[in-house]
Amino acid sequence: MTDTLETPSAPVIVQERRIVTAIPGPKSQQLHERRRAVVSDGVSSTLPVYIDHAHGAIVVDVDGNQFIDLGAGIGVTTIGHTNDAVVAAATAQLADFTHTLFTITPYESYVRVAELLAEHTPGDHAKKSVLVNSGAEAVENGVKIARKYTGRGGIAVLEHAYHGRTNLTMAMNFKAAPYSTGYGPFAGDVYRAPNSYPFHDGLTGPQAAARTIGYLEKTVGASELACLVVEPIQGEGGFQVPADGYLPALQQWCTDNGIVFIADEIQSGMARTGKYFASEHFGLVPDLVLSAKGIAGGLPLAGVTGRAEIMDASQPGGLGGTFGGNPVAAAAAVAVFEQIESHNLLAEAGRIEGVLKPGLLALQEKHPVIGDVRGIGAMIAIELVQEGTHEPNSAAVTSIAAYAAQNGVILLTAGTYGNVLRFLPSLAISDELLVDALGVIADGFAAL
Ligand SMILES: *Cc1c(COP(=O)(O)O)cnc(C)c1O
Repeated sequence: MTDTLETPSAPVIVQERRIVTAIPGPKSQQLHERRRAVVSDGVSSTLPVYIDHAHGAIVVDVDGNQFIDLGAGIGVTTIGHTNDAVVAAATAQLADFTHTLFTITPYESYVRVAELLAEHTPGDHAKKSVLVNSGAEAVENGVKIARKYTGRGGIAVLEHAYHGRTNLTMAMNFKAAPYSTGYGPFAGDVYRAPNSYPFHDGLTGPQAAARTIGYLEKTVGASELACLVVEPIQGEGGFQVPADGYLPALQQWCTDNGIVFIADEIQSGMARTGKYFASEHFGLVPDLVLSAKGIAGGLPLAGVTGRAEIMDASQPGGLGGTFGGNPVAAAAAVAVFEQIESHNLLAEAGRIEGVLKPGLLALQEKHPVIGDVRGIGAMIAIELVQEGTHEPNSAAVTSIAAYAAQNGVILLTAGTYGNVLRFLPSLAISDELLVDALGVIADGFAAL
């Protein structure tokens, strides 16, 4: 007797924008009513259209509206929604087994993800990994591992950083509202130093690094720090690309002072910027690299990867957790790495930059409210200002994002002052969709 399992095929969606109802449509509005009764108000939704299915760079809501997705679930479906290979790998694993717990009885896909992370994170030293469930959990583990290795307690972070919503990571974030307002007391021993923000500080990389290092040396002292945690390109903070030489100087200072240099590549990693990890653009070889968001095509998975001697300082049983490195998520992650290789997806990020950046720079010529256009690969942002100043203009950001949503483009905001629009499309997005989305955004600026 054959007992075949149907492999659900990915939905066929014509890759085009199509708005057929008011936004949100009637079915979304009904779902929203149900949600309001039972889902905590603490969980918000940027655009309350309820999604029915998705493929590539298009998401389709329950009313049949098709949106160009420039957010990819905040840089998660980096290789596209319902990528066929990821769907097939996860589906096959789902049928084989869904859980044993790696720390009870292990399985190959966890090992394979660790091999791939060792291969594709910067540096050719011996590396090891631990897999966990979320970005914040990766940050927590990175800090734990660094503390155990160094025997020190202090954690250094940068202004405008975002590291998550757990107790420790709330303490590491720059922005209080909405992430940490009212949720204290917070973990201690966290020290926040000025970062490099070329649009605002006008400092060269070495000048900004001297400021960061000087601040940390004065306020805490290098000998007290277990780690410095940096996003090579800040995510929620607004896609600040640090000035040349800034990050290498910080890394050198960490090396000289026995501080573990941790790159939080949760948003900037996994092919997002045209390299596996954005650290490579700056010549960094971090001691530990944190990955999450884009690693498993939308399934929850995260990792800490780093120097073997640092990773091995933890005692057996010190690292882990019930769901960490779940087999279905791990199988999906292996497929994501294979897709990046077999389809040369790193090059797609450059293609996307080649369409977005010139398009946005042309818009900037017409609209002085666009103060800055920045980013690398498929991680591009514009910072909106009060004309003729560097003062934040969050009202303009809100209206452009709303205009885009009404016209079928999902566009995310960012920035400590809410005045940044960020573009995080999947690498599967076509030039045509990008140009179409840029047209909508241009109309939004014209309507300001
Ligand atoms: C999203 C994000 C996190 C937190 O990840 P979660 O999976 O939401 O816990 C941490 N650091 C950076 C840079 C992020 O973008």
